[in-house]
Amino acid sequence: MNIDNLVKPTSLTEAYKLLTADQSNTVIAGGAWLKMSKRTIKNGIDLTAINSLKGIKEEADVIRIGSMTTLSEIERDETLKQYYSGILPQAIAQIMGVGLRNLVTIGGNIMSKHGFSDIATPLLALPCTLEFHHQGILSFAEFIEQKPLKKDILKAIILEKQDGRGYFKKVKKTALDFAILNLALTKDENGFALAIGSRPSIAMNAKEAETYLSQQPILNDTVIKKAATMALKHVKLGDNPRASKAYRSALLETYMLRGLHHLNQTNPQEGASK
Ligand SMILES: Cc1cc2nc3c(=O)[nH]c(=O)nc-3n(C[C@H](O)[C@H](O)[C@H](O)COP(=O)(O)OP(=O)(O)OC[C@H]3O[C@@H](n4cnc5c(N)ncnc54)[C@H](O)[C@@H]3O)c2cc1C
Repeated sequence: MNIDNLVKPTSLTEAYKLLTADQSNTVIAGGAWLKMSKRTIKNGIDLTAINSLKGIKEEADVIRIGSMTTLSEIERDETLKQYYSGILPQAIAQIMGVGLRNLVTIGGNIMSKHGFSDIATPLLALPCTLEFHHQGILSFAEFIEQKPLKKDILKAIILEKQDGRGYFKKVKKTALDFAILNLALTKDENGFALAIGSRPSIAMNAKEAETYLSQQPILNDTVIKKAATMALKHVKLGDNPRASKAYRSALLETYMLRGLHHLNQTNPQEGASK
């Protein structure tokens, strides 16, 4: 990456004006992903001086995670460890090593729309919206569907406070590797949410299985097996050098069964993946 000029705005208005002034002007967050690209950037817009983008704040009805919050801060946050069995910090704790997590931001991960993102999968299964400077509030699913991505600044990730339980599984070959498949399941008073990521494309909800599960009075073996069959039918899986479509299908079925049994049987604070 080559940056002709590095600017450090102190307000969002100034940052957005700079971002939209030239096609090559680019926001820089942790810079870890951008650093590996061969792009030339006319103006690199460093967001580190905008304090409103940093940190995790608990409000009456929501938890706000500023887009410049590092992955380590989220991993250590006590409120998030209790939220839906802690699936967001659990997923983040499995991304590379501490050094990277101290640098990389949640905003940078979301805006990169990585197929392998370990963050997109749990966020799609949580009651979550994204707040942008120009576009306002978007649901996470609306953001994923936005093509091409509009030039804008992500301000915060907003998690609605609800009593819910969750399960997250990242399947990978080695500790520091990208995921072969990610799966997140949650249950709250509105029903079930099921998101599959690293398919290898970006995460998506298994909507038919979610609706079916949410309508069932009890979760028995027959219901769980039928929901897994529905997810396999409607979630598009594919091949890449990490795994074949057939292997991903077997993993999806296995971890969906384990996740649903886990949600059915365990105490609400236990979200640890098995
Ligand atoms: C070696 C390595 C291994 C990794 N392994 C994994 C992994 O296993 N799982 C995983 O999920 N992730 C992984 N990542 C990706 C990482 O989690 C981040 O997604 C990535 O580094 C981007 O975050 P950043 O803060 O470095 O953003 P940058 O590199 O600074 O920015 C990335 C993109 O987001 C844009 N952007 C950043 N912040 C904003 C904002 N607030 N508003 C608008 N646009 C913005 C930038 O303009 C740029 O286009 C890995 C990264 C590296 C370098």
